[in-house]
Amino acid sequence: MRHVAIVGSGPAGYYTAEALQKAEDIAIDVIDRLPVPYGLIRTGVAPDHQSIKAVSRRYEGVALADNVRFVGHVSVGTDVSIDELAELYDAVVLATGAPHDRPLDIPGADLPGVIGSAAFVGWYNGHPDFAGLDPLLDAPGVAVIGNGNVALDVARILAKTPAEFTGSDIVAHARAALAASAVREIHILGRRGPHQIAMTPKELGELGHLERAGPRVDPTDLPDEGADAMLEPGMRKSVTHLRSFAANPVAKPVTIDFDFFAMPIAIEGDGRVQRVIIERTRLDADLRSRGTGETYAIEAGLVVSCIGYQTPAIPGVPYEHGRGRFASDEGRILPGLYAVGWARRGPSGTIGTNKPDGARIAELVLEDIGRGAGKTGRAGLDALLASRTVTPVTFRDWRRIEAAEVAAALDGNPREKFTSVEAMLAAIGR
Ligand code: NAP
Repeated sequence: MRHVAIVGSGPAGYYTAEALQKAEDIAIDVIDRLPVPYGLIRTGVAPDHQSIKAVSRRYEGVALADNVRFVGHVSVGTDVSIDELAELYDAVVLATGAPHDRPLDIPGADLPGVIGSAAFVGWYNGHPDFAGLDPLLDAPGVAVIGNGNVALDVARILAKTPAEFTGSDIVAHARAALAASAVREIHILGRRGPHQIAMTPKELGELGHLERAGPRVDPTDLPDEGADAMLEPGMRKSVTHLRSFAANPVAKPVTIDFDFFAMPIAIEGDGRVQRVIIERTRLDADLRSRGTGETYAIEAGLVVSCIGYQTPAIPGVPYEHGRGRFASDEGRILPGLYAVGWARRGPSGTIGTNKPDGARIAELVLEDIGRGAGKTGRAGLDALLASRTVTPVTFRDWRRIEAAEVAAALDGNPREKFTSVEAMLAAIGR
């Protein structure tokens, strides 16, 4: 028998398990520090994007296979170390994602009211680490830094009316806070131009269909239309949306302004954020942003920086500090230790990108471990955890938690999530 431990139960973890699970004589443990599975699907994908979240049904199919086991509420690094897992399993695959925000390295970034997207997204999605965030929503202005899909998610969630959350699984504390929010002017700050955005067309197009909010683009920021022909088709569609926003400004109570060529250089305020100082930029020959020396300020009571994520380092595991991911050769970190998904390639790509990634890592693992080295695998892990009085949450336990969440849902919504580990455990009588 071959034994594989996958650390992390998000898309990368389950796509790897899906590919491995088809092999013979293999037992796979998917370990997660939370009592609930699916990682980014549960706490990263926007709550009003239920069709994307539906992929969890596929992971459920994998989790229910005979040779796959969910080991929830077990923290690697605290309850069991990587070295111990390496002793117990033929292969250990780190599918830990990139849950930390890349730091916003400008003066004032430590003022109250400046938060990263991991925290803000975690807050409205009910991640236990961020349920107590209480973002400052008491001023009209908000600055959303970054020109990627996460910036779009954040702006859209800030802009929606309570009725527009029907059918979503946004958590109660976020629903209530957003319903009482004073936010009216949302600025999406991009340090480069409309041709350099990292926003996909479907997500960008959604901003044009919001009930009380309308996007605004300054037509003078757009390059000549002829230049769009050089763009790849998806990007061209995104830019077409920007052109349409520029050509058809709508008067709605909430504005979402695209501020291009706008590099935040400082955040100021008396005891909390009050304004963002921005330097205008231009593009150099390599399409990098360069400051022009011209500055202006926007009023903002909240700054959400959506500038990418990092994988937390693990002592003893080779790590690429500049790129915020594990150092690996196509996923092989050290003999018996692998990385997959964002932990391997950094925070890019869609959920689906993890499917071929998981399949490739599964291939490498199977190639490397042969018929297995007679390790104890899950029996060894169970004995070790029992000796530490750590009781894992099983997949069956999770389904009871899930049933309680579904039963608590408001009319029209799929679930009302538990937002603390204690509440999740209480649902299974612990
Ligand atoms: P991203 O796509 O890498 O975008 C990051 C943005 O931050 C870029 O516009 C980047 O600008 C900007 N940035 C980086 N450092 C900055 C700085 N110091 N100052 C100002 N701006 C800075 O990252 P993301 O939005 O976090 O998304 C992560 C991944 O998840 C992406 O692959 C995304 O497509 C995916 N995602 C998909 C969906 C969806 O499909 N619905 C939803 C959410 C996320 P430069 O280009 O100038 O570096």
